[in-house]
Amino acid sequence: MADTLFTKIIRGEIPCHKVYEDDLVFAFLDINPLSRGHTLVVPKEPAVTLDALSDAASAAIGRALPRICRAVMQATGCKDFNVLQNNGAAAHQAVFHVHFHIIPKPDASTGLGIGWKPVGFDHAEGKALAAQIAAAVN
Ligand code: AMP
Repeated sequence: MADTLFTKIIRGEIPCHKVYEDDLVFAFLDINPLSRGHTLVVPKEPAVTLDALSDAASAAIGRALPRICRAVMQATGCKDFNVLQNNGAAAHQAVFHVHFHIIPKPDASTGLGIGWKPVGFDHAEGKALAAQIAAAVN
């Protein structure tokens, strides 16, 4: 995978406001925040999308993410927040290196806005689809 903006931030070649680092994870403030404290948590492994992330990097992110959420909420005094993780351009991914957004939600009009449009559900089709997904998990 080619270097991304986040690879360069992790290496210290582009400045950032770092909030956390361990062997496998790096976190810093988003430069175009949706709310005060908007933070990006990035595996150092340069996978493009979450489905491509190794078990080791996934475990490290899983361990760090709740800890960084607690720290962001403590520092901002905010108790509500969203965690957002975009994969692919159609899903609003702009930087092609896996990252999780921690976005404090201080009030209804600040932070992440969600357009949630359910597409309907058919139980027979859902039963077949669930079986298909279950068989594909490895
Ligand atoms: P996404 O749309 O999920 O790929 O999000 C990419 C995020 O990276 C956006 O929220 C940007 O504001 C953020 N971003 C882009 N460049 C920088 C930078 N130099 N430092 C911090 N955050 C950045």
